[in-house]
Amino acid sequence: MLPNKIKVAGIDYQIQEVKEIDDDPSMIGSYIYQKSTIKIKSGMSQDKKEQTLVHEMLHACFNEAGFDEQDEDVINRVGIVLYQVLKDNDLSFGDKMPRLNELMVHPNTK
Ligand SMILES: [Zn+2]
Repeated sequence: MLPNKIKVAGIDYQIQEVKEIDDDPSMIGSYIYQKSTIKIKSGMSQDKKEQTLVHEMLHACFNEAGFDEQDEDVINRVGIVLYQVLKDNDLSFGDKMPRLNELMVHPNTK
């Protein structure tokens, strides 16, 4: 499952899994800056959905950083590597780890 929102530069971006994006079967993700919304095509493997989310998240990061014009090739390349680094190193920062917090609050439940 994907998170249903991520925060980028203080802005909540809603994440929606949808069957099809903009009536285009070849689209696997989209990002609408004005609506703070990221859409990910459902029905893909979990890895592909996560990788696509990192790609769209990068668009949001660049936009929030003031890069209105973005090079799709740069976003593609950095997104692929960033996803690998985040995933293979199990990176998470701060105390917002809901699964771990759940285990700590309810140690006897699964
Ligand atoms: Zn893109």
